[in-house]
Amino acid sequence: MKVAIVGAGVAGLAVAWRLKHAGIEATVFEKANQVGGRVSTFSDQGFVWDDGATSIAPRHKAIEEVLLNELSTEGLVRIEKPIWTHDGLRVSAGSVFHNSVPRYTYETGIAEFPNRLASVLDIHTGMGVDEIVEHENQFILNGEAYDKLVLAVPLPIAAMLLYSISENRPISNVTYRACISVMLGFSHEIDPPYHAVVSPEQTHPMGWLSIETEKSPHRAPAGNTAMVMQLSAQFSKNNMDKSDEFLVDTACAFTRVLYGPNFDAPLVAHVKRWKYSQPENLARFEAVNQPGSRLLISSDSLLGGRIEESFECGYRVGELIVNG
Ligand SMILES: Cc1cc2nc3c(=O)[nH]c(=O)nc-3n(C[C@H](O)[C@H](O)[C@H](O)COP(=O)(O)OP(=O)(O)OC[C@H]3O[C@@H](n4cnc5c(N)ncnc54)[C@H](O)[C@@H]3O)c2cc1C
Repeated sequence: MKVAIVGAGVAGLAVAWRLKHAGIEATVFEKANQVGGRVSTFSDQGFVWDDGATSIAPRHKAIEEVLLNELSTEGLVRIEKPIWTHDGLRVSAGSVFHNSVPRYTYETGIAEFPNRLASVLDIHTGMGVDEIVEHENQFILNGEAYDKLVLAVPLPIAAMLLYSISENRPISNVTYRACISVMLGFSHEIDPPYHAVVSPEQTHPMGWLSIETEKSPHRAPAGNTAMVMQLSAQFSKNNMDKSDEFLVDTACAFTRVLYGPNFDAPLVAHVKRWKYSQPENLARFEAVNQPGSRLLISSDSLLGGRIEESFECGYRVGELIVNG
């Protein structure tokens, strides 16, 4: 059986990983020049930021065994410091329940997880799929014929690909939040009692602040601090087209209030705009993916907008293929 997967985010890689365990080699086509999708790391001048997802919380799902036992754990970091909350930039301790969940990243960045999965899989990066052709019960992608096809892309992109073969799935209700991530590197140190601060109701433009140097060692040159600020969904939607300079200035207005004048002007700053950040609502896995189907969908929009749920979805899609 020949299987093609479109998209090498966690949801696509999990399908290929599950199939590999069953002895089925899948071919993964990825538009970007690297794997991981929203599980992404960016580095510059010795600063290392996780500019998409911040951490992996396995929550006893299929990803746990893979993260802790199947892949090498070299450089894997269990994040020690908790998450606190802020109300108008007044910071206080977060809930005990929220902080009892183990969270992980890697010293070299969270992208290490998809990179380690991909290292033993057949991935073709820089090869976006813009349309699918169906011929004699096979799917033709980039000139090759496949028996089964998995779309592991955000659902609006999956809908367009389905349209090219006149297929339909109940996914049109799914919408996504936008998120702007601002990466900051400062030439001073801080030692807060937390690794991240969240605005629980997302009423403040600073939806989330991760102190990357508190999360993990080796995220900045000695004596420096790396941070990623995720601007709230509403703020991000309204300011997606604003300049990087405006967005960095906005973020620094908040870091100055939180940590003082040394955190006013960063040594280095970058901006990443995520059009599809996390789903605002979900489609039902069972309604989208029927046993025996030749075309399946794997996405964080079916079980939940988190890494462990994307991975779980990929595993379940893989099992549907293995079981025929
Ligand atoms: C800013 C931010 C913060 C987050 N924080 C967390 C967190 O702390 N913890 C957590 O668990 N989750 C978090 N998430 C959510 C988590 O990252 C996602 O739920 C998960 O990574 C989604 O994986 P996926 O494989 O479904 O989609 P994606 O990661 O979007 O993967 C889809 C892949 O398909 C590729 N692609 C798109 N179109 C095509 C095409 N036409 N042809 C070929 N390839 C294509 C893309 O390049 C991409 O690599 C966060 C997300 C963002 C953006």
